[in-house]
Amino acid sequence: MAAVRRRFYTNEVRLGAEAYRVIHPVRPIVHAPMHEAGWGVELYVNKAATVDFVLAWWLAARSPHSLVYLPLRQSCCDEVSSYCGRKMDLVLAHHGLGFPASRWKEVRARLKPTGIQQVTLPERPFRAFDPAAHHQRASRDHLRYAVAADTLFLTGSRHGYELEGETVMELLDEAPAALAVRPDKHTCAEIDLGLWHVGTERGQRRDTPLRLHVVCCNEHWLKVRSAGTSGPASPR
Ligand SMILES: [Zn+2]
Ligand SMILES: [Zn+2]
Repeated sequence: MAAVRRRFYTNEVRLGAEAYRVIHPVRPIVHAPMHEAGWGVELYVNKAATVDFVLAWWLAARSPHSLVYLPLRQSCCDEVSSYCGRKMDLVLAHHGLGFPASRWKEVRARLKPTGIQQVTLPERPFRAFDPAAHHQRASRDHLRYAVAADTLFLTGSRHGYELEGETVMELLDEAPAALAVRPDKHTCAEIDLGLWHVGTERGQRRDTPLRLHVVCCNEHWLKVRSAGTSGPASPR
């Protein structure tokens, strides 16, 4: 596989006495619209946006002092299901940062196109875990979520992000081959958010269940632009 790299801005945003480090992509993400759905959140990615998503996930795992921000609300796809609701951006953070989602709108407004860094994804970015590790993880290792300012916030420990690393990497490693053979195949990653209430046989959740369903868009998987975006290549 060719080296997977992207450029990101790294900003330090001051808000009162606090300073927040925010990492966000230099190149706009053209095809990764993320929508609220009845049971969770639906994220439609093409191949290029899959790279952005995987890199963001890896950065979140290894950057306990940063917010990793993917602006997705300007992304479009006309294949989005009719049950999808409002569009959202995505922020991934370490839970130890204790970032209050209510401050995000102010932080976002202060972001600047400065501090460019090139980021290269290692060949094996996430440690491999026994599947049992998913069930045995401590409560701090569950990915939690909040929604504010049209943004889905994920928070968790490094281990929490890494436990989903294999699921996330399958999009990068296996989806292209699967879709080359069967371009209409439903190919996705399902990431469950929230805390399972440990100690009950039926595994009830303590907070509202939410699933992040990352779906490879069959129609636009290899296209640079999707229908719904402006530009001459738009096939609408
Ligand atoms: Zn699409
Ligand atoms: Zn699916």
